[in-house]
Formats: sequence, structure tokens, C-alpha cells
Amino acid sequence: MSKLALRGGEPVRARPFPSWPVFDGREEELVLEVVRSGRWWSYTLGEAAAAGDHAAPSSKVAAFQHRFAAAHGCPYGVACVNGTAALEIALRALGVGAGDEVIVPPYTFVATASAPMLIGATPVFCDIHLDTFNLDPRRLEEAITPRTRAIIPVHFAGLAADLDAITALAGRHGIPVIEDAAHGHGGSWNGRPLGSIGVAGAFSFQVSKNMTAGEGGMVITHDAALAELCESLIWAGRKPGRPWYEHYRLGWNYRLTELQAAILLAQLERLPAQTQRRQDNGGYLASRLREIPGIAPLAAPAYATGHAWHLFVFRFLAEPFGLSRAQFLRALTAEGIPASSGYAHPLYRNPLFQQPGLPLDYAGFAERCPASEQACAEAVWLEHRLLLGDRVDMDDIAAAVAKVYEHREELLA
Ligand SMILES: *Cc1c(COP(=O)(O)O)cnc(C)c1O
Repeated sequence: MSKLALRGGEPVRARPFPSWPVFDGREEELVLEVVRSGRWWSYTLGEAAAAGDHAAPSSKVAAFQHRFAAAHGCPYGVACVNGTAALEIALRALGVGAGDEVIVPPYTFVATASAPMLIGATPVFCDIHLDTFNLDPRRLEEAITPRTRAIIPVHFAGLAADLDAITALAGRHGIPVIEDAAHGHGGSWNGRPLGSIGVAGAFSFQVSKNMTAGEGGMVITHDAALAELCESLIWAGRKPGRPWYEHYRLGWNYRLTELQAAILLAQLERLPAQTQRRQDNGGYLASRLREIPGIAPLAAPAYATGHAWHLFVFRFLAEPFGLSRAQFLRALTAEGIPASSGYAHPLYRNPLFQQPGLPLDYAGFAERCPASEQACAEAVWLEHRLLLGDRVDMDDIAAAVAKVYEHREELLA
């Protein structure tokens, strides 16, 4: 084998991987329908709860709410502007507000913690498990206080969180569970769609996610009253059937547009086949990479029946591999495999949590969350678009990692 590309050798891979987003004439067709209809906005207040009565609503937002929720095992869906808003709405609808605490993992996108803060609540971090990068249920009890009003497990990278243990403990304490399913489109836990297991599930359709309209979000739930409340909250506090300028509660305008819903309807049609492909490739790649010293793909627990593979994540163990993670990533990228190190630090290390006047001293969490600290130091992420290719693409990734391992001395000289 030639020497490392970083040292002037031939790279394993010169071809690009599939790009994202994936779209075709179907998105164009549905967007054009909206543009030409002149109906770029629609009155969907009351549609979420009435979804079952409307087999083919003419509003794209109403249709998308209904189809996305149904595809994820829920009767009700409320579309909104983004995933952060979806979390805020679900929290507010559950009555969470000022002075309340919400338990979240520190190894996630900031929105999981900023959504509670945006409505006046306080995020309390609970460490993750290093095998899955998801909330560690063994650490949950110590994070619960008399002020805890919600727990938000994240299905990180699309791998189901340990909901058996989390919902059992939450149930004992009477605390609702909101699933952050921003990575979870099309995934499942014990055969049930991610987002449909807790009291509510929050999704994002931001451009990096497994289906997208550039931006967008959705709350799904089994609870009709909760869905109605979520809807009212994004409709400026209105009530269905009541006069337009009558407002019952403090609400936002967090509505999705018909143009976005048109794209998302097409993206949803493509999701099952894409999920299948990500699963086939993700499982295969994990089995190949496990053979290489120092490469530890995340675990595949039995309850994670359908991995959504928003990311392909592995731990890079510097000692057995014989390089630092930074050296490894430089060498791997030079071989034509785009990879990154993910979150630079757990959420509580952001300047956001070091401001004066916060109700909690977040400095203490570094000691409480050793697994999150380690995850940030060891993680390597591959984007889901890499899993949309074929078997040969997976073999190239595995070959490039193996090549960097075999030639690691070239980087130490
Ligand atoms: C992307 C993301 C969100 C928020 O979604 P936006 O649509 O960007 O607001 C929430 N949680 C996680 C884990 C995410 O990755």
C-alpha cells in the first residue's frame, strides 16, 4: 500500500461521497404547486387535532403534520419553525416555566439545553454512557430535585436512548419525558418509532438532519389536548373556532410555511428507503471498523431496534491506535474521508453557562459528567450522507482508517 496521502501518497479515495440534501423532481413539483396556487400560508389552527378527519387536506402543512406524525406512530403533529422551537413548545405545553428544572445530557446540540432556558427554566445536566453517548439512567436519580419538571433524553446520532430505564424512573417521580428526536427520523426503540414513546417528541428539519427543508420542526404526541395547546402556542395564543383577534395565552408565531411543507412532504416519501440504506451501511461499517485497534463504534443495544444513523460515531482511542485524534483526523481527511471531532466540549463549558446570575453554578458539572468529557475528547463523527452511498463507499472508509493505522509511524517520524 502506498504511503499516507498526508505524506504525498495516493489517497484511498478521490471520488466525493453523496451530497446532501438529496432531492429531485418531486420536491420541485410540490414547491411549484404551492408557488402557483398563491397559497403560501394556510390556516391550519385546529388541523393537528382534527388530522384524522382530513384524508387529504389541501394545505401542505396540514398534510405534512398528519403524515409525519402517522409515520412516527403518533396521531398528532404540530409543525413549527425549527427543532429548538419544537422543544420550547412541548415544554411550555407541559407547563414548564420559570424556576423549573429540566434534565438534559451535556453531549448534544445546545438547543436541548437552551430551549428550557428560553422559557425561563434551568437545564440540569446528567452524564451520558460512554458506550452509547446517550443519557446514563444510572446517573439520573441524582439529577432529580423537587423542582424537576421534565427530562429530555436525546437519541444521539439516531441511536435510541435507554427509554426503559429513563421512563421507569421518570414515571416513579411523575416527571414527563420529552424525546429530543432531532437525530431520530425513521428510527425506533423496541419497534416503536423514536419521538412517539415519551409524552411528546421534538424533531428538527434543519439542513443537517435526516430530512430537511433548510429549516423546520415538529412536535408529535398521542395527547390531543397537548397537541391543541402546542398549536395555540404557535398561533399567537389563539383557539380554533374563536375570533381571529382573540388571544387566550402568550403565544409565538412559530409557524411553518406551505413552501417548506411541500419540500418536507417529498423528503418524507424518501425517508424509508434512505433509512434502510443508512442502516445497511452503518451496520456494515461498524463491523468493519471494530476490527481496527483503537476504533470503537458506539454500541448497538437490543432496544435500539432501528438506528436512524444521523451520524456515524466512533470513539478514537489514542493509545491502542498510536496517534492523537487530531493526527488521525488530518490523515483520514487527506485520504478522502471527511470526518470531524464533533462537539469540542460538553455544553456546560460554553460561555453561555459561565455568565453571572444563572440559578446554577455550572462549573461543578465537569466533575459530575466524566463520560461527556471523555466523549468530547475521543469522538469521531461521519455525516449521514456518507452512509447514503454503496458498499464500496463503506469499504473505502474502512480501508482508509486501516491504512492510517498501518502507516501511523510515518506521522511519528
Ligand atoms: C439540530 C438539533 C436541535 C435543534 O434543531 P434546530 O432545528 O436547529 O433548532 C435540537 N437537538 C438536537 C440534538 C439537534 O441536533
